[in-house]
Amino acid sequence: MDDLKVLVVEDSKVTMKVLCNYLARMGVVPLTADSGALAIDLYHREKPDVILLDAQLPDIDGFDVALKIRAMEKIEDWTAIIFLTSMTKDEDLERGIEVGGDDYLLKPISEVVLKAKLKAMLRLVEMQRALVHVTEQLNEANAKLQRLSATDGLTGIANRRMYDELAIREWRRCERMKKPLALVMIDVDHFKLFNDKYGHQVGDECLKAIAAQVGKAAPRATDLAARYGGEEFILVLGETDTDGAKWIANRLRQQVSDLKIPHYATSSRHVTISCGVAAVIPEGKYSLDVLLKSADHALYQAKETGRDRVGAGVYGVIE
Ligand code: GH3
Ligand code: MG
Ligand code: MG
Ligand code: MG
Repeated sequence: MDDLKVLVVEDSKVTMKVLCNYLARMGVVPLTADSGALAIDLYHREKPDVILLDAQLPDIDGFDVALKIRAMEKIEDWTAIIFLTSMTKDEDLERGIEVGGDDYLLKPISEVVLKAKLKAMLRLVEMQRALVHVTEQLNEANAKLQRLSATDGLTGIANRRMYDELAIREWRRCERMKKPLALVMIDVDHFKLFNDKYGHQVGDECLKAIAAQVGKAAPRATDLAARYGGEEFILVLGETDTDGAKWIANRLRQQVSDLKIPHYATSSRHVTISCGVAAVIPEGKYSLDVLLKSADHALYQAKETGRDRVGAGVYGVIE
């Protein structure tokens, strides 16, 4: 029982000494307190597994000590409380359990009974520890799941779901601030031909390399870079106007071009992207949906006019 942390709360020096001797024989070196106030203080600092709690103490009544401890403790640091009592009325036992006690020992305390009850409590404490462990694992798994459901499996950047969630939040934030919100739609040029020629796996690697650049393109905490789907990506840029977004899109376009991934079908003979930019100061009569369509239309124009370029759209001009 040596990994059991026991706190003995007892104002009688004789009883305390007897208890400590018993416990020592079980391999337990207990913490000790001779008053209710000290017991609460020690509980706070040490979080013992078991408290042997004298029902009658000079300052705070043992039952009140139990009440206070139960009020302070969190579910994950449950402590077993065993009352030490010379009271024999059923009502006293009832009250002890009522205030949060788990068991009681009658004075004078028998070493055999103390040992048996501690063993039983140790079992409970071990179950409690296992439960805490499982809960921690569950929390970890949940956090991982949350991350996975927010990121794209292939590229590791935010996914469409994340875009849907964060873009509208950013729209509302910019609306409150009366600042423009810009979207940059990004599409890889002639990517079907790339796949057909070099294979899907090389295509995947290419998407990963581009996604890494897309992820770096929008560094502000409120910015979002996401894989919109297939070989399309999107940037959400808060507090950014069309010129600012064009600048960011052009820098990204250059960075992708600088990767120099060979591609037979583009004019530069390596992989390039086209971008469509649109921005608006959000307000009631506008919508994120139309802003997205405007950026998409600008992207379409960038494709039409030769690819490897940034098209700037006007909000509401969608065809
Ligand atoms: P454009 O320049 O007009 O955009 O031409 P494109 O060939 O890129 O356009 P299209 O939309 O016809 O083709 C997109 C291609 O992207 C088709 C598909 O094979 C490829 N693609 C989409 N998602 C993935 C993916 O996850 N991995 C790979 N390797 N290819 C993908
Ligand atoms: Mg006492
Ligand atoms: Mg496409
Ligand atoms: Mg494409």
